[in-house]
Amino acid sequence: MRYVSTRGAWSAAPQPFCAVLLEGLAPDGGLAVPETYPRFAPAELAALRSASYVDLALAVCERFCDDIPRAELARLLRATYTTGTFGSAAITPLTVLEPGLALLHVSNGPTLAFKDIALQLLGNLFEYVLAREGRTVNIVGATSGDTGSAAEHALKGRQGVAVFMLSPHGRMSAFQRAQMYALTDANIHNLAIEGTFDDCQDVVKAINADAAFKARYAIGAVNSINWGRIVAQVVYYFSGYFAATRSNDEVVDFAVPSGNFGNILSAYVARALGLPIRRLILATNENDVLDEFFRTGRYRPRRAAETHVTSSPSMDIAKASNFERFIFDVVGRDPAVVRALWDELARDGGFDLAATRHWAAVQAAGFVSQRSTHADRLAAIRTVHERYGVTIDPHTADGVHAALARRDPAVTTVCVETALPAKFGATILEALGCEPARPDAFIGLEARPQRYTVLPADVARVKAYIEEHAALA
Ligand SMILES: *Cc1c(COP(=O)(O)O)cnc(C)c1O
Repeated sequence: MRYVSTRGAWSAAPQPFCAVLLEGLAPDGGLAVPETYPRFAPAELAALRSASYVDLALAVCERFCDDIPRAELARLLRATYTTGTFGSAAITPLTVLEPGLALLHVSNGPTLAFKDIALQLLGNLFEYVLAREGRTVNIVGATSGDTGSAAEHALKGRQGVAVFMLSPHGRMSAFQRAQMYALTDANIHNLAIEGTFDDCQDVVKAINADAAFKARYAIGAVNSINWGRIVAQVVYYFSGYFAATRSNDEVVDFAVPSGNFGNILSAYVARALGLPIRRLILATNENDVLDEFFRTGRYRPRRAAETHVTSSPSMDIAKASNFERFIFDVVGRDPAVVRALWDELARDGGFDLAATRHWAAVQAAGFVSQRSTHADRLAAIRTVHERYGVTIDPHTADGVHAALARRDPAVTTVCVETALPAKFGATILEALGCEPARPDAFIGLEARPQRYTVLPADVARVKAYIEEHAALA
């Protein structure tokens, strides 16, 4: 399997998986996509129905990561998807709420959000590829919570990797802060920046714009456009499908709380591989860039100032960074059309596919979308608690709200649980009148010793810190 860019780079020389794993954007600003989607034959799908999570992961990943020897890949997957890390042998267990409605638990990893599924594997893949190539990488990122902690937990103690994670000083919840700052591994550097999340992002952008610095210190990222993350997430759509159905003749709908379009893109890829998924129910909160697109055909990223601060903060996005991969398919995988659309985006602030020949392809892709408000999420949390005795977090509530609004009684709808309620105590308290239970490992988390360095939102000062602490080959 080789990879090309959505904007045409690499078309003459498609890249192997390990090359795109460590890259962020392609040199032309596009995203890595596989040259084709491999398809599972019906007999292969039938054989996978009884497979363990690791065997499912191997069946999926070996098709996308074929420049890693199969035995090595199997070893990395076995080391990643353990009962110790994810709390059960099923890794992503499924709860049937009632006939035709289920919850897929993909958030039982170390930081209680679905991002652990992909990042824990990335930690192992990075260590393997860096050792093989005698390289190091210095991951520099900005976080307002979830992604940063999942990345740090996945990369702590890894050979050849250092992490510099910028977070807005004093602006995260005590729980989020403790999840990151209580890590004491020498290769994890928590940089508490005196400023907002946007200030943190600006510093990271400035560092990445300095090509000489970037090359000298092998600066990398583990952001949501990383293709390895998309592949890792495909696996739980297989496991969720098999757990929710009795035979491969059945179809299901998945409801996915969405922000950067990464999680739901993995569902879309799973279907492209032949998994019998019918519809993809895309849920947004008040930041409804994607809901607007699927209803109207207009894609209009918001300005940072237009982004709402909501009770499902990990979905508070202004633009959907993985969306370009979907558009690439919609326009017949023609990089010239993608380039023209993204030029239009830069010039006019958006594009509209409704009146174009591409709209039929969007509609044929089987997405339906639904937006929720804070009140909708509170109602969904209460409904699920009252009807089924299950407490869901506000992101999952976006998805359940969408599922209940758009569900088809003839088909099972599987809602993807993207975080555990313990992370969002204040909203649960507002909805249910009591705080959610905390997994044992998190009791007393905020009281543990913390390790972080406070720095001004100053590019030179952050660079100086990186120079002093970087992992070098
Ligand atoms: C990241 C995140 C999302 C959004 O996922 P995308 O892949 O960006 O669409 C939803 N819920 C939670 C809890 C998250 O952490």
